[in-house]
Amino acid sequence: MDIKYGFSKAIGNTPLIRLNSFSDATGCEILGKAEFLNPGGSVKDRAALYIIEDAERRGILKPGGTVVEGTAGNTGIGLAHICNAKGYKCLIIIPDTQSAEKIEALRTLGAEVRTVPAVPYKDPNNYVKLSGRVAAEMENAIWANQFENLANRLAHYETTGPEIWAQTDGKIDGWVASTGTGGTFAGVSMFLKEKNPQIKSIVADPMGSGLYSYVKTGTITLEGSSITEGIGNSRITGNMEGAPIDDAIQIPDRECIEVVYQLLRKDGLFMGGSVGINVAAAVRLAKQMGPGHTIVTILCDGGARYQSRIFDRAWLATKGLSID
Ligand code: PMP
Repeated sequence: MDIKYGFSKAIGNTPLIRLNSFSDATGCEILGKAEFLNPGGSVKDRAALYIIEDAERRGILKPGGTVVEGTAGNTGIGLAHICNAKGYKCLIIIPDTQSAEKIEALRTLGAEVRTVPAVPYKDPNNYVKLSGRVAAEMENAIWANQFENLANRLAHYETTGPEIWAQTDGKIDGWVASTGTGGTFAGVSMFLKEKNPQIKSIVADPMGSGLYSYVKTGTITLEGSSITEGIGNSRITGNMEGAPIDDAIQIPDRECIEVVYQLLRKDGLFMGGSVGINVAAAVRLAKQMGPGHTIVTILCDGGARYQSRIFDRAWLATKGLSID
């Protein structure tokens, strides 16, 4: 028998998919880790599970307790599923700029959802800081604190990284991922570099995020903006600190959208916007490295979470973007 005993046990061990149209065009093997197939629908299920189980082990999350988090959506969705499966309550604080689909999914899952204006991190009312204060004021509640809580990247160091290594038989030349908390990028990068320091570890960054300039110049500068959700940062998070980074690639939204639609039409993959950034950066790395290399990236979540946005032509047009 091959049975997963509960939601939590079904997280991880996702397939690694050859992105055929992009691989054939570049002469490289461009492989996507199918994190959208996690039971909560995104790469963040892994971090959510590690954060909750770490809090259980440390005795700070007790029966009937509440998990509080500030999230762009996917971590919240992962947490809400796991809270239901384990008998906890879930309180999510989310910027009102995030897609209606993610906010509705959180409500459907039974999480208490508070939408707040999207303000920069330096503002005390930023959703991340607010979630920390709300958790501190509640009885029997923990703050998941995904940006600083290192259980996040540990999930990827202990699961995503080893899975990628095993699935490629260690034949991997490049690792590319965009970063929100940085947990996925950092955990996988740390694991792969221990196995083979020659593997190139590349941050994929949307416009409006500071990591590209940080990697290139050592200082964070923010220029432009992006329609992608859940990625990009104006600071180096605890989860990114000390992560091996060889280079960064910045991807404009136009290139991201073209990639998202090519994935849909040619590869049969209905993906969210951060996947467009990841795969576009993987393609650019493939061109830099030349044919014959194997590059792995993350298929973070599915397109259904963005139907009203990047898959809606009228919405795209309001952002100055169009697609044939
Ligand atoms: N893509 C999407 C759609 C996300 O929601 C997130 C997490 N916010 C990421 C990528 C980045 O993941 P991480 O937090 O591990 O950097």
